[in-house]
Amino acid sequence: MSTTIFWHPLCSDHNTGAEHPERAARMQAVLDALGTDEFAALNWREAPPASFEQIERVHPPRYVDKVMSRIPAWGSAAIDGDTLLSPGSFEAALRAAGAVCTAIDAVFAGETTNAFCAIRPPGHHAEREKAMGFCLFNNIAIGAAHARKRHGIRRVAIVDFDVHHGNGTQNICAEQADILYVSTHQAPLYPGTGHRDEHGVANNILNIPLGPGTDGVKLRSVWEQEIAPALYAHEPELLLLSAGFDAHRDDPLAEFMFEEDDYVWLTRQLLGVAANCCGNRVVSALEGGYELSALAASAAAHVRTLLEV
Ligand SMILES: [Zn+2]
Repeated sequence: MSTTIFWHPLCSDHNTGAEHPERAARMQAVLDALGTDEFAALNWREAPPASFEQIERVHPPRYVDKVMSRIPAWGSAAIDGDTLLSPGSFEAALRAAGAVCTAIDAVFAGETTNAFCAIRPPGHHAEREKAMGFCLFNNIAIGAAHARKRHGIRRVAIVDFDVHHGNGTQNICAEQADILYVSTHQAPLYPGTGHRDEHGVANNILNIPLGPGTDGVKLRSVWEQEIAPALYAHEPELLLLSAGFDAHRDDPLAEFMFEEDDYVWLTRQLLGVAANCCGNRVVSALEGGYELSALAASAAAHVRTLLEV
């Protein structure tokens, strides 16, 4: 069995500048870490662009047009203080969403056991009609919609272990009872959403806000008490991961205290759910992670564990 990395060099053409936290060097750090001899067993596939049909299952055409119209011919443009656009941003965003959709196709075709999408821009802050927090299109929600449409499944679970709440994913999925969205995130922290009383239309949103200093011990306790029971009760036919690594203790944007071993442990638990519920079908997509060496080591720990299946 196998793990495949989905990526595309054009994701580096989303140029936010060298000083921006969400910069092209992040993806390169992850690719470099996964390119070592230790990872010789990985398969690699370049992602096609997502189609407009795939994106517009989540974002209305007027929003897609708006993003496209804001792309500068040269230099950069700002959607907000955090979210920048460069001439290559639209194509990068299409490849990022395309990677998740194609990875899902590969998993359902039995071409790979699981997959990790080493992509940018990230997606989980992108709401149905709002780009924000470095995100343009919601890659993981587009993947969930694609899986349901293309592969005839109903129940999807999205687990988001980025240190920030995926307000965009919640915004898109809250009224879709068959999609369970689970998020662990620091509170208070950007974007300020993700309260426990945000449940979704059918208790399909599980927000677990946690204080600064949250470590792997606390993670294990909320997994046992809340996350695992919710996932098993939902019986997903596909498990999607919003894999942000900014909960690492060295990350400059937040104050969680995760270490590489915590990502190994968490990934093993998630793979256990997938083994029991959905034939090991797991597609993981990179979200945040802003300290390059911590990001690279954490993503490597995650992918090393995906390879254990
Ligand atoms: Zn984040």
